[in-house]
Amino acid sequence: MKMFCPKCGAEYWEGFYKCADCGTDLVAGQPPEAEDEVRYVEMVEVFSTYNQGDIAFIKSVLDGEDIHYYFQGESTLMMVAAGSYARLLVQDDQAGRVRDILEEMGFIQPLCALY
Ligand SMILES: [Zn+2]
Repeated sequence: MKMFCPKCGAEYWEGFYKCADCGTDLVAGQPPEAEDEVRYVEMVEVFSTYNQGDIAFIKSVLDGEDIHYYFQGESTLMMVAAGSYARLLVQDDQAGRVRDILEEMGFIQPLCALY
């Protein structure tokens, strides 16, 4: 079992109990993914819409679910003018959960119905 410092993320072998760098008590296990790495998780498109109301509603729901998301191409006036749409991008590892949520709200059809 490895030990790591919850404060600075340094790894230690079993038998060490305090971080040599910052003096924090070590925790057993693997250090969690650094915040920086999370930003580089691949984003996948799960939904797209022209409807500003849908976007606002989906945002409020995803905020409540603590899901990281990004609407690409979102800009009220630009969207109307260009007739384009906003694409909802979420982290690859959360895409399944977001699809479930959108399905429950009726925004998207279950995958099996598309094919
Ligand atoms: Zn430390």
